[in-house]
Amino acid sequence: MAEPPRRRPRTCAACREPAVGAVLLRVVRSPEGAVFLDERGKLPGRGAYLCPKKECVEKARKSGALSRVLKTKVPDCFYDQLAARVEAGGLPSPSTLLGAERELRSVLSLARRAGLVRIGSDGVQSKGVRRKNAKNGPMLILTASDSSESVRGIAEKMDAGGNERACLPLSVVELSATLGAEGVQVIALPLRGGLSERIRTLVSILSEGRAAFEQT
Ligand SMILES: [Zn+2]
Repeated sequence: MAEPPRRRPRTCAACREPAVGAVLLRVVRSPEGAVFLDERGKLPGRGAYLCPKKECVEKARKSGALSRVLKTKVPDCFYDQLAARVEAGGLPSPSTLLGAERELRSVLSLARRAGLVRIGSDGVQSKGVRRKNAKNGPMLILTASDSSESVRGIAEKMDAGGNERACLPLSVVELSATLGAEGVQVIALPLRGGLSERIRTLVSILSEGRAAFEQT
């Protein structure tokens, strides 16, 4: 439901200080409960504001203020994205971002062809991910940017026993196309080795820069 276009005082959900709208970061939740950073401040949906300051991001993480305002559980990795966004003083150039996205997709696609990727909630919840098995060791669990609340819940639950978790800057549609599958909301791949490290580096470059790139 769209909000009526009226002026309201915008305050930071963490420190409660009012500020000019353009200065605050807007966080928005979709009807499905997915949480996004809305750089342009134009996306529909329930929104919350935060000062672009590390203190306020961490304060919101600790107090759960964003979750309360947005009436959904904001995943911890979203706060990591916000912190990265706030810290990104010198943002990567558009061509760097395009290169990073291409590389991320090709790394994921190669991993899939090498048979290293478990796909979907069932794949991620399989025994090989649940337990540290000798073959794969701990896994990196990756959710699409617009994965559903229940899938994010599964990913959080699996983030144990040495497994780790991150949010991909790719939507379900983008992730599915990359892997040549349909409706992929979550994947898991071995945490060990350079593969997952490279994926994490690319994810952080993209999370920092993509939103800022869209703004210009
Ligand atoms: Zn604040």
